[in-house]
Amino acid sequence: MTMAKIRTVLGDVRPEDIGFTYTHEHLISRPPKWKVDQDPDLELPDKEKAIEELGYFYAAGGRCLVEGTAIDYGRDPEALREIATHVPVHVVATTGFNKGAYYPDWVKKMSVDEVTELLVEEITNGIGGTGVRAGQIKIGSSYNVITPEEEKITRAAARAQKITGAPIWVHTESGTMGLEQLDLLEAEGADLSKVAVGHSDRNPDPHYHLEILRRGAYVQFDCVSKVKYHPESVTIELIKNVLGHGYGDRLLVSGDMGRRSYLRAYGGGPGFEHIITKFVKRLLDEDFCSEIISKIFIENPARWLQF
Ligand SMILES: [Zn+2]
Repeated sequence: MTMAKIRTVLGDVRPEDIGFTYTHEHLISRPPKWKVDQDPDLELPDKEKAIEELGYFYAAGGRCLVEGTAIDYGRDPEALREIATHVPVHVVATTGFNKGAYYPDWVKKMSVDEVTELLVEEITNGIGGTGVRAGQIKIGSSYNVITPEEEKITRAAARAQKITGAPIWVHTESGTMGLEQLDLLEAEGADLSKVAVGHSDRNPDPHYHLEILRRGAYVQFDCVSKVKYHPESVTIELIKNVLGHGYGDRLLVSGDMGRRSYLRAYGGGPGFEHIITKFVKRLLDEDFCSEIISKIFIENPARWLQF
């Protein structure tokens, strides 16, 4: 039995050493051209700015960041490695794909087995000859539907997880199809205790969250600060629901600040320090205890990410 590790762009780290963690963020993203033409705010091409922003996270007390940019969204493993050499934060890179709308033609032509092979290769040997290894597998679905192409990636992710033990992160569109994704993963024999259902707070329905938790998966709230969706008071009620039902060890919280307008380094806000300096402070003010904070941001991420 090999020792449990968390796989970062600079090598493997012991789970007990990762510290305060954001489990879904973006440092470098280059979405498909048609998407950037529609919405240039989504493109995060600048290494220097990523280093600056990650520096704010570190200064606030952040120590590990899962970079959720997938293959079809312009992931840049070499840039991530370089960024991680400039700031003492553990950076976890992603293999896998976002959602069908972004898939390149070459992945549409691949079989489940071929996708499985690609995911396993990127986790065990590295991404395209860079030597940078991925530490999580990303899958995704569309609004209220899992397309056949998305189902193929989900099945491949489950198979790759069985081979490698790596954690899986699920993109849900506006918090839909999380349960159906878990059904597919389970049918392929995935370990749901290594699966996190992302964007779950985009669907602020306490019942939906409990259904995910009853399956043994992690529920992730990653739109903290995005008041355009709902105020943070809603997120706090959602957290209370999870804790009140005894699932405090299955909750992840992050910011998913994948837009220039969210990042201070690009002239936006509130930036990477927001959750630590403002949101955690508010949780403490609202009588959440420090043990719960360390569960959400240290122990749960360490348990989910290790393999
Ligand atoms: Zn994201």
